[in-house]
Amino acid sequence: MTHIKYTFLKRNEVLSKKVNRLRGMYDVTPEQVWVWQKIERIVTGILDRYGYQEIRFPVLEKTQLFHSAIGEVTDVVEKEMFSFESRKGESISMRPEGTASTVRLALQNGLLFNDPQKLWYNCPMFRYEKPQKGRNRQFSQVGVEVFGFEGPDVDAELLLMNRQMWQELGLKNVRLELNTLGTPACRTKYREVLIQYFEQHLDALDEEAKNRLYSNPMRILDSKNPAMKSVIASAPLIKDYLNQEAQNHFSELLAILDACDLEYQVNPKLVRGLDYYSHNVFEWITEDLGAQGTICAGGRYNKLVEMQGGKPTPATGFAMGVDRLVELIVDHKLWQPETQTDVYLIRDKVIPAETALKLSEKIRKATPGLKMMVNMGEASFKSQFKKADKSGAKFAIILGEAEMAAGNFSVKALQDRDFGQQQLSFEKMVSLLSSATQQ
Ligand code: ATP
Ligand code: MG
Repeated sequence: MTHIKYTFLKRNEVLSKKVNRLRGMYDVTPEQVWVWQKIERIVTGILDRYGYQEIRFPVLEKTQLFHSAIGEVTDVVEKEMFSFESRKGESISMRPEGTASTVRLALQNGLLFNDPQKLWYNCPMFRYEKPQKGRNRQFSQVGVEVFGFEGPDVDAELLLMNRQMWQELGLKNVRLELNTLGTPACRTKYREVLIQYFEQHLDALDEEAKNRLYSNPMRILDSKNPAMKSVIASAPLIKDYLNQEAQNHFSELLAILDACDLEYQVNPKLVRGLDYYSHNVFEWITEDLGAQGTICAGGRYNKLVEMQGGKPTPATGFAMGVDRLVELIVDHKLWQPETQTDVYLIRDKVIPAETALKLSEKIRKATPGLKMMVNMGEASFKSQFKKADKSGAKFAIILGEAEMAAGNFSVKALQDRDFGQQQLSFEKMVSLLSSATQQ
């Protein structure tokens, strides 16, 4: 046995204690993994068809990246990051979101020199949050980030693509809420007005809001504290401080959405949690998930690339919470489980394992897409048939001495009584399995 050095635990402790997963983290078991796979297949298939390209970035980045991109006074940076020191004393964080890393990747790899980019990623994010339904400490996002287009055509394309995703996923009760945060110039003006307003209502603010009053007053509008609901409800609205450019961008976006029959609600109170947004922001919300009903959120962030040291580059995007989609589909039984196995291969003890495996390879090669499970080890026919039934297979192929001698295959339908058990040539069997696979 190789020697393992346990740094933190005594050897006995390691051997005697069952270790469970960390709070807020999840496992995906075989019973649920098909839901994840199917969502990913549908969503990334659509991204592919719209001409978006995948990128992959590391789980770990310098903490500074998130501080400068997301903003110091945000939930994510203030209290939700998994950060630690490297062995050399540098502060490192597990990515809490993908936009900052995408901008870093695009800049570092020279993607933003001339060409516009339409990029996507699909990966886990990490936030130290209070775990609850729809809120995990590790959660997966499919994110899309687009660079080099002023919009609003591309902003509309993102929303149309979202609509296509909900349609192909079979989600019904999803609504779109939209708002505009204007340009930085509009926001400077609005910020002053907002600070004045909240200064007049200091008593109604909680500690967090007071702390944010001068550093990031717009974030107060995003508070989830019910006690502040009414002071937020009467706060001045950004829409009264928009300049011509901001108004045009937003109304052109709405006009495209109208022309494409995409329904939306303008919510003048919608602000996004992260600091880098400008112009349109949006959320796709479902009532079918309880409190954590936002399944996808995004907007335009024209200043971020410049803030990260690149040349000014317009940018827009969204991130979709895959965990919440899985929950929605599982809770509401929107999908039926897919067949995991088309055919189960059973063999008589007298047939050697190598013969069975060699044949199974030949059958697989002749039947593209076939999902075939081969019985492992030796067992009675009865127990092999039990496993075949449990696998959900439509057919069992039985390798027996007599059939092998005659050059035939014995095929039994496990779900179709009329078919019974038949002796078939290799070709006939393959054509039967092919048609069953395509159903
Ligand atoms: P919230 O206001 O719910 O905390 P957020 O503004 O922090 O959301 P974003 O950073 O915009 O969320 O992330 C985009 C999407 O990712 C969310 O709409 C949600 O679907 C998903 N998401 C965010 N945080 C979590 C989490 N902790 N667990 C599961 N999904 C999450
Ligand atoms: Mg959050």
